[in-house]
Amino acid sequence: LPGPNDLGAWWMPFTANRAFRRKPRLVSGAEGMHYRTPDGRSVLDGISGLWCCNAGHGREPIVRAIRAQAGELDYAPPFQFGHPAAFALAGRLAALAPGDLDRVFLCNSGSEAVDTALKIALAYWQARGEGRRTRLIGRERGYHGVGFGGIAVGGIGANRRAFGPGLPGIDHLPHTYDRAQQAFTVGEPDWGGHLADALERIVELHDASTIAAVIVEPMAGSTGVLPPPKGYLERLRALCDRHGLLLIFDEVITGFGRLGHAFAAERYGVVPDMITFAKAVNSGTVPMGGVIVREPVHAALMQGPEHAVELFHGYTYSGHPLACAAALATLDLYRDEDLFARARALEPAFGQAVMSLRGLPGILDIRTVGLAAAIDLAPRPDAPGLRAFTIMDRAFEAGLVVRAAGDTLALTPPLIVREDQIGEIVDRLEPVIRATS
Ligand code: PMP
Repeated sequence: LPGPNDLGAWWMPFTANRAFRRKPRLVSGAEGMHYRTPDGRSVLDGISGLWCCNAGHGREPIVRAIRAQAGELDYAPPFQFGHPAAFALAGRLAALAPGDLDRVFLCNSGSEAVDTALKIALAYWQARGEGRRTRLIGRERGYHGVGFGGIAVGGIGANRRAFGPGLPGIDHLPHTYDRAQQAFTVGEPDWGGHLADALERIVELHDASTIAAVIVEPMAGSTGVLPPPKGYLERLRALCDRHGLLLIFDEVITGFGRLGHAFAAERYGVVPDMITFAKAVNSGTVPMGGVIVREPVHAALMQGPEHAVELFHGYTYSGHPLACAAALATLDLYRDEDLFARARALEPAFGQAVMSLRGLPGILDIRTVGLAAAIDLAPRPDAPGLRAFTIMDRAFEAGLVVRAAGDTLALTPPLIVREDQIGEIVDRLEPVIRATS
């Protein structure tokens, strides 16, 4: 292993900000709710890996399924072969998805899923003879991964600026939280109106017949756990219907129980035209992402000329047997242990526990929904993000993994978390926050 100040030859996910370029913490094992370090410490995982290990770490049925699949069929080229695990998984996902979202495309990450969904939207309009519809609408503070499509529709300027002009024809809706007011806008009666106005203005400016799709996270996750204001997603659906736009929910974070349901679409009672997923589909064990599309969207794509070669999209590892087997075992675990209902049942206790941190120095705001929480810290003007980053670092020393994003801390424990472990998370975090104010 590299020494404490030596990164070895491994190029970490990169950032140009020197303050955040630190030695990585080393972990060498994981089980259930905990990581193990090479020096034998046990560290409580407060963020499910990276919002992905929803069933906890090292779950035996998943490990067994991966092993068995590796022994049976290690790989099958998706452009030539199908295999039982891929078909079974697609069927399970279609059954979990709401409405007539019945067709499943498999890939390897959230970023690939988002780029795939955006490409499907454009291809759909081409197939329908409306190739003018190429514009895309995202949302400020939306995060959709790091592909070129994802950073374009994503609402984080810093993720785009270093990478040239990016994609043309993108607009962003306003975000759903007003930090200047330090107040949650959820439930404010005029919020739905504000959103509607914004979308109407974009449509007026560009003409609806040039717009392909709107993509949002039903609950913005990594940019600060921002649940939709009441009525927001319904209004968005109605507006998309009125103007004939496709609506894409990016459920890479919200999928598979984080909000107490298979998908947030179910929690909020709104059916989009496409759902992107990744992360928790197989509890973080083998890279996998995908898109679930409504049957009419799929049908339009498939109605091209008989020997069409124009429409091509797919990955070498689409529907990888190991990822599929892991996902099937994970979905079984979610069902057998009723983990989505467990998340729903734990939501009030989790919310209350995290909210108890509210009075601590330097905390601006706390939001929780499902088993996700965000703690906004007062930014240091000279070093934005540094306080949260330092807390992340020190929490690890105190035996807890939290996540820092900007000046916000995230807590998203595995759905197997016990109530006493929720208490442990808060108890370990509190002194670290106090000491870092
Ligand atoms: N979409 C959303 C909503 C995400 O939260 C993420 C990852 N945090 C992505 C897409 C990208 O996923 P990946 O890192 O697997 O490419």
